[in-house]
This record gives sequence, structure tokens and C-alpha cells, in this order.
Amino acid sequence: MRETIERHARIVLQFSGGKDSLATLHLCRKWWDRILVVWVNTGDAFPETIEQMARIKAMVPHFFEARSDQPAHIAKHGWPSDVVSVEASTFGRLVRGTSGPTLQGYPACCGANIWAPMQAAVAAAGATLVIRGVKKADARRGEEGPGAEIDGLEFLLPVWDWSDMEVLDYLCGQGVALPDHYRHTKTSLDCRHCTAYLDENAEKMRWMSMMHPELSGEVQRRLKAIRHAVMTDVSHLTKAIL
Ligand code: SF4
Repeated sequence: MRETIERHARIVLQFSGGKDSLATLHLCRKWWDRILVVWVNTGDAFPETIEQMARIKAMVPHFFEARSDQPAHIAKHGWPSDVVSVEASTFGRLVRGTSGPTLQGYPACCGANIWAPMQAAVAAAGATLVIRGVKKADARRGEEGPGAEIDGLEFLLPVWDWSDMEVLDYLCGQGVALPDHYRHTKTSLDCRHCTAYLDENAEKMRWMSMMHPELSGEVQRRLKAIRHAVMTDVSHLTKAIL
């Protein structure tokens, strides 16, 4: 890490507030005075995340809050979903004139509200090194492995080879408190109204029903509407299979 960090003058650490980026932040503690910590506030962050970011901002010398407007994006392009039928897409709703929720694939939503603003912040900082808390074992990750260089940007991934348990052990050993929701979930919180990533968000939904019952009611309403939209297409598919 030292050799890589010392080769660069402008460095961004991409911070989500999850355990992996928290471990990465603390692994880089020696170089905090040379690192810009960037978090993307989508406009739909949990209050717990806002509070965590205020603490991080007070702790590190350089912190930048990039912003997007996920509520406006979702109002225009639809709720993010793991499954999107053409009928329920903006195209489908326009062409067929059907009613029901408009859906978009979650990569489009995360792309517009998290990935693009983060990329813009990295570019605006003139960074040549990006530090990320991504692991080889993660179910979802970019193609960039350790030491990757893309368009003049080098990637440093300090916890790449770590397991979840090693990350938790490291944080515990360093006396770093985990966000409280990790007592109930294994993932970071992301957006309050997210209706995607359901392969890993069932525990988050249960946590929300305890901690934020009103919000949970609205998200559950959306999930049921998504299920109805998807099941309509699944029934058409089922009928067509002989
Ligand atoms: S976490 Fe969910 S709601 Fe937030 S930007 Fe990504 S897909 Fe959209």
C-alpha cells in the first residue's frame, strides 16, 4: 500500500459507509492527510448513514459529499428492480399505455445516482489513484482487480483478498464500531427506498420494519406492486410454454 500511495499526488477513497469501506478507510489511516474521502449522498440516505458520515467528516482531513437526486430520478424513470418486464418499463408504459408502477433495472438507477456522481467526483479531484473497499469474494464488484489501471486511473483494493470475517475481525481489533444495523444485516444500507438487490436485502427489510416502520410500509407497498407487475408477465410466459 505504501509504495502505491506514495506514487500518487491525488488520491480518492470511495466510501459507502459499509464495513468493507470502513476497514479500508482505517487501513489507510497513516495517509489520511493525502486522501480525499468521497461519499455519494443520493438524497435518500438513512438518517443513520447521515450521522455516520458526519462523524467521518469530522474525523478525516479531507471529505467530499457528492450529491445526486435519487427521489427525482425514480419519479421519472421508475422504481429500481432486479426484474423488469418490458411492459413495466418507461417504454412499455408509454407504448402500451398500461397502468401500474414503472420499473427500471437497478444498474441504471445506481449508475445515475451513485456510480456517475462518484466518477465525476474522482475526475473533478484530478485523482490518479482510487482506493476501494471491494473484495474478490463480493457477489457484485467491478472488473477492476488490484493494481488495475484504466484510463490513467490506478486502483488500490486493500481488502481484496479478505473474507467478511477478516474485515469484521480487523475492525474489532482496531476498536472501530460497526454501524448498528450490522447486528441485523450483512450489507451496507444504501438508499431508504431501494427496491432492488433483494438477493441480499431481506435482512435489511426486516431491520427497516423494526427501526423505520413507516418507511418499511411504503417500501413493502412498492415491492408488492413490483411482484404483481412481474407475475403478470410470468403468467404470460407460463401460458406460452406448451
Ligand atoms: S441503491 Fe437502489 S435506490 Fe439507491 S441508487 Fe442504487 S438501485 Fe437506486
